[in-house]
Amino acid sequence: MRKILVVGAGQSGLQLALGLQSYGYEVTLMSNRTADEIRSGRVMSTQCMFHTALQHERDLGLNFWESQAPRVEGLGVSVAAPDSSRATDWLGRLDGIAQSVDQRVKMAGWMETFAQRGGQLVIHGAAVSDLDYFARTYDLVLVSAGKGELVAMFGRDAARSPYDTPRRMLSVAYVHGLGPRAEHPGLEAVRCNLVPGVGELFVMPTLTVTGRADILFWEGIPGGPVDVFQGIKDPADHLSLTLELMERYTPWEYSRATKVELTDANATLSGRYTPTVRNPVGRLPGGGVVLGVADVVVANDPVTGQGSNSAAKCAASYLESILAHGDREFDEAWMRATFERHWESARHTTRWTNTMLGPPPAHVLDMFEAAGRLQPVADRFANGFDDPSDFEDFFYDGERTRAYLAAVGGRAAR
Ligand SMILES: Cc1cc2nc3c(=O)[nH]c(=O)nc-3n(C[C@H](O)[C@H](O)[C@H](O)COP(=O)(O)OP(=O)(O)OC[C@H]3O[C@@H](n4cnc5c(N)ncnc54)[C@H](O)[C@@H]3O)c2cc1C
Repeated sequence: MRKILVVGAGQSGLQLALGLQSYGYEVTLMSNRTADEIRSGRVMSTQCMFHTALQHERDLGLNFWESQAPRVEGLGVSVAAPDSSRATDWLGRLDGIAQSVDQRVKMAGWMETFAQRGGQLVIHGAAVSDLDYFARTYDLVLVSAGKGELVAMFGRDAARSPYDTPRRMLSVAYVHGLGPRAEHPGLEAVRCNLVPGVGELFVMPTLTVTGRADILFWEGIPGGPVDVFQGIKDPADHLSLTLELMERYTPWEYSRATKVELTDANATLSGRYTPTVRNPVGRLPGGGVVLGVADVVVANDPVTGQGSNSAAKCAASYLESILAHGDREFDEAWMRATFERHWESARHTTRWTNTMLGPPPAHVLDMFEAAGRLQPVADRFANGFDDPSDFEDFFYDGERTRAYLAAVGGRAAR
């Protein structure tokens, strides 16, 4: 059977390794951390995943936490007014549930499953020199090492990467004790709070190492009033600052957060990175080639919560391409074609995410306002998080947005 090396045990690497394993491939998975180190380590993401991505996990029988994780049925958008009231506030209903399972729980669990099923797990932080050797001994080397140092092997694709600096500062805190939003007390939802000129606050339920919890996630415009987490080392200080900003900019979210406490000592995270699309093929000093996976090749800002979704879609698409290739050589042409097949879907995610990082155009603000009156508009926007290709039809172009709103408004009036 064909031998495949997967470097990096995150969403895409583990999903691919477990998927290939289930089809009888001889898979080696290289991770720079053990399952226990991941489980007891720092939070890495907010990882909310929508229906299509979750279905890829179900298709492989990997939805181990589905019955324990909160079932997210809605996605809300609130836009802050200058006086810190809400200019816009609505909830869209998702056609399929979304879920967030802390990557510490999922990756540790999946890694153990991979080893229990007979997979070869190597705990080692791979360097380019390792890959040079392994590219000669494996039929295919997949680099799924996220935004780590190995990305330097994959050149930036300037035509597909409009930004060359980070667009947001990221700051995350996992908490217990958050109250429900008063308007929908019995409903689990992702809440997107847009504060013009400042950034965004996302609030979402999750399943973490200590059970059910909520995540408070600030995305701050660099240099703005939320870009204040750099250098904060004490998790308690991190949480205090998170809450102070909520009280000032999103008081409707703060009012349900007055009794929160961190879930654990590693429940906070801050940082920033530049959204980048890369050349999918990495060329090694010895002449071998390796294929980049998920964030290695398409790293979007988390402002639209798409990275894990894209990673799951990439892993599913690459798995199909590998299976379809049979016993033929995994050469550079195959690698490029495999990536382009994924890009056909990923390009929509990248376009939408990069658009959401800029100031919202007037027609988008009009649509957000209309979604408060027209439930189908709210629902359609919410379901775009599952399938961002739908935004092509009604989001980017003012004419199309107006035509869509007029059609929905007309139907509602009849
Ligand atoms: C603050 C924040 C919030 C987010 N929120 C969401 C969200 O709500 N929804 C969503 O869909 N996405 C979200 N994302 C994005 C999402 O987490 C990532 O896009 C996704 O995890 C990428 O998956 P991946 O498989 O490419 O890489 P990763 O999940 O990053 O996995 C890479 C793995 O490779 C390992 N590794 C690195 N270098 C090496 C090496 N040299 N050798 C061996 N192993 C190595 C790493 O330790 C890691 O385990 C968020 C990201 C951040 C930072």
